Formats: sequence, structure tokens, C-alpha cells
Amino acid sequence: MTIEQQMIYETHLHDFCRISWVSEEAKAYWYPRIQCLTTLFQNQAIALTSKEVFPLLIKRLYPHEADELSEQLQESSLKINHLRGTRKKLLEIFPVTFLNDQVKETILIGKKKHVDQALDAFNKSDSNKFLEIIGMPICCIKSYLEGLQTTIYNGLLRTILKEQKKKELNNQLLSYLLYKPLGLDLLQYEPCFFDCQQSEQNINNVINTLIDKGYNQEMLWLKEILSWPISWSGLHGIAEVKTPINKFMYNIDATAKKVELIITGSNYPKLGAKGLAFPYRINHSIKEAIA
Ligand SMILES: [Zn+2]
Repeated sequence: MTIEQQMIYETHLHDFCRISWVSEEAKAYWYPRIQCLTTLFQNQAIALTSKEVFPLLIKRLYPHEADELSEQLQESSLKINHLRGTRKKLLEIFPVTFLNDQVKETILIGKKKHVDQALDAFNKSDSNKFLEIIGMPICCIKSYLEGLQTTIYNGLLRTILKEQKKKELNNQLLSYLLYKPLGLDLLQYEPCFFDCQQSEQNINNVINTLIDKGYNQEMLWLKEILSWPISWSGLHGIAEVKTPINKFMYNIDATAKKVELIITGSNYPKLGAKGLAFPYRINHSIKEAIA
């Protein structure tokens, strides 16, 4: 079995995301910032729900985490409930972000009214209603229910295939989608398309609410990350993302041929790698060496 075959084989068994860094310095500087953002979104998601930025929050938690959260929320206005169903049923009803850990449970958090409505919709297999309750825009629900997004990354693949004639783009929402496998999850759903205005608005609502809560520095990091050049390519069910500071791979739906996308970006990060190929920037010494 070749390495590639092995990776395809693994893909059918596991969801995964493997990350490597361009240098130890870049990792030391940026990894803690990305981790900080990931933790911030996880920790603040409940606060965002209580402010109804998301009417309802869906989380994947280990059983002991769900119990702890349940205790923490006893005094709050929010209710917590399990969403029990097979992986197939969960994916049929909503585009849950990562189902890679089978031990984790799917938990709904929100005001009692919203949790009850969502459970009712889930039990009746009413995807449309369920997705509406979690705050997914109508355009994205329509796209999802038309069967275009049978798995989580089809939306991104569709974007890329549709834009084949124009592979170079510059778009915050698309950058967000490309970084999402690292845990930068600002939305609970896959936008219908990279220019979905309602999803862009939802992202801005999250950013502005967190700035209001005092996370200005973190939101500056996020905005900076979303402004870098980035390349994405998918082949044989594996996506490879290259950014100036790291490279990561994860599983996607298999495509018959290689699909590629480039986000030109408007900023280059501190400690970003130098090099000849996109997304790296050429530095002076390399330019001189070529000349
Ligand atoms: Zn949409």
C-alpha cells in the first residue's frame, strides 16, 4: 500500500487534520495565538448564545465536560440538552463541524424555548426547522437541504469548482473557511457560498461582540490571520492548505481531479516563511540569487 493509498484508507476511517510549521520561531509565535483564539471561541460561545448572537449552540463534548457544563449553567438562563442520534442522522439534520471523536456527545445549549424547539425538530427529522433554530441563514439552509452539502467540506469544494475560471480570490469569509480545520470556528454551519452576505454578517457580529467584551487584541490577531495569502488544494479526498506560517492537511470528499484555490491576501505575517512558491514571499537574497 502506498502512502497515498494508506491516507485514503485512513480517511474513510477517521476525520483528521495534520499540521506542520514553517519554522520553530513561527510556531512559537503563532501557535499560542491560534490556540488562544480557538479557546476563546469555545469559552465565549455560551456568552454569545446568551446574547443570542447564536440562538442555539451545538457543542461536541466528552461526557464529563457535558456534566460540568450542566452544573455551571444551573444558575443561568440557558438550558443544556443532549442530542442523541447516529452519526448519519446527525449529519443528515445539520452540518456539524467535526464528528471525529466518537466518544464525544452532541450537546445543545440555549434558552429553553430554542432547545425545546430544536429537540422537537430533530426528533421529527425536520432539518429546515432545526437549522433555522441554530441561526443558519435561509440561503445556507436551502443550499444544505438541496443536498449540495452532503458533508462538511462540500460547500468549499463547490465554491472552488464553481470558481475554476477565477482561482485567485480575496475574501474574509473564504479565508475563515480555509482556517476552520484549525479550530477557528466562528459559525456553527457551513455557509452556502463564500460570498454569503448573511454569514459574513454573522462573523462580524461575533467579532464585534467579542471586541465589546474586551477581546480587542485577540480579534486583531484573527483579522490579521484572515488577511494572509493562502493556497488550498484538494485531491483524492485530502485537502492541503498552505499559509505563510504553516501547512495543514485534512480529509474532504474525494474529487476526480485536483482542485486548487488561491487567496491573494493583503498582509504578510511576522515570521512568515520566505520562498519562491505561493503563498510564500520571495526575500531579497533569493531574488538576488535568481538574478
Ligand atoms: Zn448563505
